[in-house]
Amino acid sequence: MQYRKFGNTGIELSLLGFGAMRLPMKPDNQGVSHISMDESVDVLCYGFEQGINYVDTAYGYCAGESEIAVGRALKNGWRDKVYLSTKLPLWNVNEQADVRRLLEEQLGKLQTDHIDFYHFHAVNADSFENKILKLNLLDEALKAKERGQIRFLSFSFHDKPEKMLPVIDTGAFTSVLCQYNLLDRANEPSIKYAAEKGLGVIAMGPVGGGRLAFAGSIFEDALEGRVSTPELALRFVLSNPDINLALSGMSTRQMVDGNVKIAGSNAALSQQEMSRIQELQEKCRSLADIYCTGCGYCMPCPFEVNIPVCLEALIYHKVYRMELPARDKYAAIGGEWIKGKTAYACTNCGACEAKCPQKVKIREHLAEAAAVFGK
Ligand code: SF4
Ligand code: SF4
Repeated sequence: MQYRKFGNTGIELSLLGFGAMRLPMKPDNQGVSHISMDESVDVLCYGFEQGINYVDTAYGYCAGESEIAVGRALKNGWRDKVYLSTKLPLWNVNEQADVRRLLEEQLGKLQTDHIDFYHFHAVNADSFENKILKLNLLDEALKAKERGQIRFLSFSFHDKPEKMLPVIDTGAFTSVLCQYNLLDRANEPSIKYAAEKGLGVIAMGPVGGGRLAFAGSIFEDALEGRVSTPELALRFVLSNPDINLALSGMSTRQMVDGNVKIAGSNAALSQQEMSRIQELQEKCRSLADIYCTGCGYCMPCPFEVNIPVCLEALIYHKVYRMELPARDKYAAIGGEWIKGKTAYACTNCGACEAKCPQKVKIREHLAEAAAVFGK
């Protein structure tokens, strides 16, 4: 396993972090899914034995049971050797006192007296303004630090890339966790900014949340089939010197072995390999005539169409030929994590196209998405 310095903390973290969001689950008699506790503890401890020294969980992962499994795994002699990260569910915070209440509940589930990296979960412009600043949550987090319950304050991020900058500029955060992978490089400039400001940067979804794990992906052509797509995807993320580690959600020893092998070798891609990938990305996009970068400047749509996500699903379908991920992405619009409506709600008003710096023919592509994916 290779290790990198983590921002300004003076800590060295393994290139691979254990994401505890996909631990093994099994249904109970009523068909309700619960974590498979022994299996989960086993795979976590196995990862730690292979040199992973960062584990990332959250209040709600695995039906709220991930923190319990992580706590049990750390009890097996790993608590002082592995850095523990978890997340405060901002959507459950309505007043300052909720921070302490939730934090203490989490410490109980994790069977520990402190959390190394405590993240405000899924920060966006709205939760930054209306929760973190309005409810003065930074003060509350500072008190938790003074009590020794938190070592470092961090945030995970889900919004337009530039919305990350004011959060970094508060100076309150030690690290940031954000999306970055072969298919989604939109956060690259913000990641650079964070690293320049001394924050540790963690990439989530290095293999595109599993999407890139599809055999036969077009990216394998980039290296003439010499590496598998998941390997290429992880190596791509770790090639960015501004990224300190990549989190991967793992549920089996076999997955741990595969990722550890990559993070233990010289993970970075050569300059030549990077240029080849870049060329291929550009070629793919121009072939499909969709230049959407996901910047979100076309939003909001007066009819609530989630334009960037509709176009992203269309790109998966048309450019990368990843049928299932394309349909999953489109189907998630309007759910808990992806707000808004599908392309079906487009009235053809044209308001979005004037705002698009790439001059994407949004209406044309939305009509195509609606035809391909239905409602
Ligand atoms: S359609 Fe244009 S403005 Fe909208 S996300 Fe894509 S590139 Fe940005
Ligand atoms: S053209 Fe469609 S997507 Fe664009 S702003 Fe109008 S309704 Fe929204």
